[in-house]
Amino acid sequence: MASISMRNIVKKYGDGFPAVNDVTIEVADGEFMILVGPSGCGKSTLLRMIVGLEDITSGDMLIGDRRVNDVPPRDRNLAMVFQNYALYPHLTVYENIAFPLRLAKMPEAEIDRRVRAASETLELNEHLERKPGNLSGGQRQRVAMGRAIVREADVFLFDEPLSNLDAKLRGQMRTEISRLQKRMGITTVYVTHDQVEAMTLGDRVAVMKRGVLQQLASPRELYDNPSNLFVAGFIGSPPMNFLPATVSGSTLQLPFGSIELPPAKAEKVAGKSLLIAGLRPEHFAEASSPRAHNVSDANTFEADVDVVEWLGNETYAYIPFEAPAAVAERLEEVAKDTDSESMRTQLVITLSGESRIADGDKVKIWIDVDKIHLFDPETSDNLTIDLDNAGHVPAIHGAATPA
Ligand code: ATP
Repeated sequence: MASISMRNIVKKYGDGFPAVNDVTIEVADGEFMILVGPSGCGKSTLLRMIVGLEDITSGDMLIGDRRVNDVPPRDRNLAMVFQNYALYPHLTVYENIAFPLRLAKMPEAEIDRRVRAASETLELNEHLERKPGNLSGGQRQRVAMGRAIVREADVFLFDEPLSNLDAKLRGQMRTEISRLQKRMGITTVYVTHDQVEAMTLGDRVAVMKRGVLQQLASPRELYDNPSNLFVAGFIGSPPMNFLPATVSGSTLQLPFGSIELPPAKAEKVAGKSLLIAGLRPEHFAEASSPRAHNVSDANTFEADVDVVEWLGNETYAYIPFEAPAAVAERLEEVAKDTDSESMRTQLVITLSGESRIADGDKVKIWIDVDKIHLFDPETSDNLTIDLDNAGHVPAIHGAATPA
């Protein structure tokens, strides 16, 4: 096993475009690291530089203590884990797992030892003589992992391994991968554009946009303490609501009325006037619901509900609002950056599945003001972030331990 250090990594392709721009990430020994971001953010390029399939323009790539910038892929002792369709259909499970060892002309006894050890770990013993076509999707994924395990690689690398699968199978595979990685404790880097995979699999998640690392933190930190509008909008579904806001002292004016900010938050935005307020859908409740029992009128507003979607376990209510041009423009940019739909001038709130709210109702809504984030519309930075806990970029250098 090994750690991976990516230090100030830059990748410029022939046209000079920086696909990866000064990225520093330390992956600890045994850690499960996710690289996530929208299409074109540079995550696959970064993974390919770890493997050695792409030259590094500048910066240092270390695996363990060894600088590998100029080491060919076959000498890096890494295993790329392929999707199930990379299994050979005419070979048995045993032979599929043994394949890289036969290629390396390993003695028969050693091949047998390694295949049996891997199949024990992967609970594939009873399937060794079967062909991949007769296995479930989860079993096939385990065979693919077996092929990586027998190489006794230091690091596992995954590049969107589940993206071609249907939602149900994807869920199963996700659980398999997570279980195996935890059991084996092999350092893993996993590229995805799927935020559910990012949130459920990783010890830590590196969020990238246009080649630049935006935030590196545990899933919970990313969710609770996003460093900027991009991360806030990218992580979470339905996404965080962004509202135009003006602040004066501790009073925050939102499109629906004004609320009183907790003193610590008011302090962080002192001297600002126009802001973007961020509130997740679950940070609202009906003022009449038990969640809002400590309700004070300062934190409630009357809203005209446009559309209601009842999902059984919860209810989404949509409430339109107006945003001034400067804010609307910035929010449109965030929607584009995060590949999300342009739905930024309506509030989405999550209510209990028992709510009886209907389209067109006027309802009193409570806001959990302790959870509010306030962003600078010019820089996109989260002004209310708790920097000590958020794994914000400046804090990550040398922070090699998983959260
Ligand atoms: P996706 O999820 O779509 O695969 P990604 O985040 O993995 O996207 P990369 O494939 O790493 O992104 O690409 C990052 C940027 O580098 C993109 O703008 C892409 O157009 C550019 N790029 C990638 N490969 C090459 C290449 N061989 N030559 C020139 N530019 C490239």
